[in-house]
Amino acid sequence: MARTLAKPTVQLLHPSMTAQLNASLSPTGRAGAASATAGDEAASTGGAATFGPLAAPVPPVIHEALARQVEDSVALLRESVERFGRVVYASSLGAEAIVLTDLICTQVPQIDIVTIDTGRLPEETLELLERLERRYHRRMQVYYPDAQAVERYVRQHGINGFYNGLEERLSCCQIRKLEPFRRAIAGYGAWITGVRRAQSAERAAGQAITHDPQHGLTKVSPLLEWSEAGVWTYILAKKLPYSPLHDRGYPSIGCAPCTRAIEPGQDQRAGRWWWEQADSRECGLHPRRRPAAAG
Ligand code: SF4
Repeated sequence: MARTLAKPTVQLLHPSMTAQLNASLSPTGRAGAASATAGDEAASTGGAATFGPLAAPVPPVIHEALARQVEDSVALLRESVERFGRVVYASSLGAEAIVLTDLICTQVPQIDIVTIDTGRLPEETLELLERLERRYHRRMQVYYPDAQAVERYVRQHGINGFYNGLEERLSCCQIRKLEPFRRAIAGYGAWITGVRRAQSAERAAGQAITHDPQHGLTKVSPLLEWSEAGVWTYILAKKLPYSPLHDRGYPSIGCAPCTRAIEPGQDQRAGRWWWEQADSRECGLHPRRRPAAAG
C-alpha cells in the first residue's frame, strides 16, 4: 500500500544570514573554515581531511541535496515505526546523535531515546545531555552499568585496567556499555544507530536496515549516506547544541580515558582506544571481525 510521507520541516537559510550565523558559532570551531568546500568534498568521499564543525561550508546552508537526505532519513525513521513497532534510538551524544535526536524529537517523537552513562563519560557529554533534554522538553532514559560488576572489574584489573590489554578493554566495554545497552533495547523491535558509511571501511559496507543477530532485533541506520559535511551543516544551520569537544579535535567521543583528539587527515575513529590496533577499535555495538577471545 502506498504511503504518503509528510515532509520534514527544514529551514533553508539565505546567504544574507551569514554574518548572524557566524557570530553565533564557536570561534575555535570556525577558524580557518574558508576551505570548507574542500572539506565537503573530502567528507563526501569518505576522506578525513576535515572533520567536526570545520567540515561544514560557510555559511552552513541546508541545500537541496541535504534536504533530500533529511527527507530520506525521516522517511526511514517513520518506516521503522510502521514495520517494527516499538523503536528505540541509543544515542551516543556525538555529532550524528545530535542530528538524529533533532529528527526524532521534531518528526518521529514516538521513537524512544536512551543513552548509556558508563560512569567514565566526559563532563561535556553529560552537560550536552541536559541541554538536549531542555531543548526538546523530553527525558532521555539513562542506563547505568551494574554497580557490582564494575566493582568486581576494578578490584581485579584496577581503576584504569582497560589500558592493560584488549581483553581487559573489551571486558570493561562489556560491563559499562554492552550490558546496560542490552537492557536498554530489550523488548524493542528495532534500534536506530548513527552509523555512516564514511566513518570507516567496515561501516562503508553497511545497510540501512539489517538484522542484528548479536542483539536479536533489527538495526536501522538513517544517516548511512550522510557525509561529515552534511552532519555539521545540519547542526550548524539549525543551531543545535553539540559537545564542545568537537571544536577541540574530537570527531568521535566516548569515555574520557579512552578518547583523544585527532589530527586532520587521521581516520575519524583514530582517537578511540588509540593504543590498540586499528581493527579492534569498536566497543562491540557495531562489532568488527576480531579474535574469538574478543567475543
Ligand atoms: S570506552 Fe574505555 S572506559 Fe568506556 S567502557 Fe570501554 S574500556 Fe571502559
